Amino acid sequence: MADTKLAKGSSSAIQSGIAFQRCLNSLCGATFDIGQERTACDRCGDLLDIEYDWSRIEVPKRLSDFEQMWTRRYEPLRFSGVWRFHELLPFAPADKVVTVGEGQTLLQRADEVAKFVGMDAGKLFLQYEGMNPSGSFKDNGMCAAFSHARMTGAKRAACASTGNTSASLAMYSSVTRLMKAVIFIGSGKISYGKLSQALEYGALTVQIAGDFDDAMLRVREVSKDLGIYLVNSINPFRLEGQKTVMFRVLEALRWEVPDWIVVPGGNLGNSSAFGKAFRELKQLGLIDRVPRLAVINAAGADTLYQLYERRNLRWNDGAPDMSITCHYYDDLDARKAKADTIASAIEINRPVNLKKCLRALDFCDGVVRKVTDQEILDAKAQVGAGGIGCEPASAASVAGAKMLRDEGIIAPSERVVCILTGHQLKDPTATVAYHTTDQDKFNEVLGSRGVSRASFANRAIAVPNELDAIIRAIQLYG
Ligand SMILES: *Cc1c(COP(=O)(O)O)cnc(C)c1O
Ligand SMILES: [Zn+2]
Repeated sequence: MADTKLAKGSSSAIQSGIAFQRCLNSLCGATFDIGQERTACDRCGDLLDIEYDWSRIEVPKRLSDFEQMWTRRYEPLRFSGVWRFHELLPFAPADKVVTVGEGQTLLQRADEVAKFVGMDAGKLFLQYEGMNPSGSFKDNGMCAAFSHARMTGAKRAACASTGNTSASLAMYSSVTRLMKAVIFIGSGKISYGKLSQALEYGALTVQIAGDFDDAMLRVREVSKDLGIYLVNSINPFRLEGQKTVMFRVLEALRWEVPDWIVVPGGNLGNSSAFGKAFRELKQLGLIDRVPRLAVINAAGADTLYQLYERRNLRWNDGAPDMSITCHYYDDLDARKAKADTIASAIEINRPVNLKKCLRALDFCDGVVRKVTDQEILDAKAQVGAGGIGCEPASAASVAGAKMLRDEGIIAPSERVVCILTGHQLKDPTATVAYHTTDQDKFNEVLGSRGVSRASFANRAIAVPNELDAIIRAIQLYG
């Protein structure tokens, strides 16, 4: 079996040069040891990538070889939907790997949603990352960052979060007891489902008078000052774990590559990780073609859309024209523009992984779209009607697929996978407001966001507390 080398793996073998950190900037290219904690290049300040010397790693010859890992589910490393692909993210020695059983997720064929999107039956799939232990895809990355934090001997880990990163960090911290969690959140921009997780799991929660972008700046300063391990998606190890979402998609499609991957875009960690996953699989000869990538912004937080589709910002072989980005951010500041969308998980105007996402868009012949809160909520209602719902940000993928289908960019016969990033129960306020009969409630939560109708509302029927009336109502509506 090909995996024995790593499953038994000696830490020294893995740390001595098989994996290293490398600056994304092609003009710099500085490399750093895997054992050090860094969130940016020392020399030029750019993002870091995790790279491997694949010639020294025993990677299975075919992707289907990974199916043999299923037979060893009693081993925590093979039970995990992330670590059973350990050979494709071999930065941590087996004895440092952290898992709480993440990545046991489902790719579901969704014919009703396909109809809504305008696809042929059997062509649209939903990848339910809300099934992770903390209820969002963030666990895929957090177990990887936590493993690296453990390699560095960290005692505390911190993040700024729109909610799900903090829920995930708090969970790993309390289940494993390996590190204390410190969480920075903005005020008023976090759903109760997510906040309740951080509080109940016992994380130290710091609420800043500001929005996510403010909290992000502060957490970077504070972690540097206090030497706290930072687990935001600027952390390159998190993205290694998130690659496995794509491995599981391929696995569920019996190792066939779909035509499209459609993913919501916030800090652009997922889209970056997906691009890296396909680049490496191709490089290793494990796939022979790559899917196209569609990244979907909310209209109220559409930086990537503005830069990529409107201002033609491109990867440009590792030297994107970042003056375009600077001008754009200066203009946001001048207008005092703040991100604003019901999809709080992607309510981000300064995506930290922008450059990596440009690389992914380049490699996967990508497109970017923006969808309104109205489109997001209608798509969410359609997903939810299929039984395994999602939070608002996740439904941006389905709304985006519909838009690309309407534009004729996605053909009805192509195979499309939409990533559902978070669980339905993360944000019940938006869902209940959408389905309510109480117009005031609707206006309070959704009206201010430009949502004017609930096209697929399933409204409760109000009846007096009388048996006859109840029976009549059920006969009438049922
Ligand atoms: C974090 C998050 C996103 C955004 O993902 P990025 O990788 O930051 O683009 C989208 N949806 C949900 C539910 C999230 O928690
Ligand atoms: Zn550099």
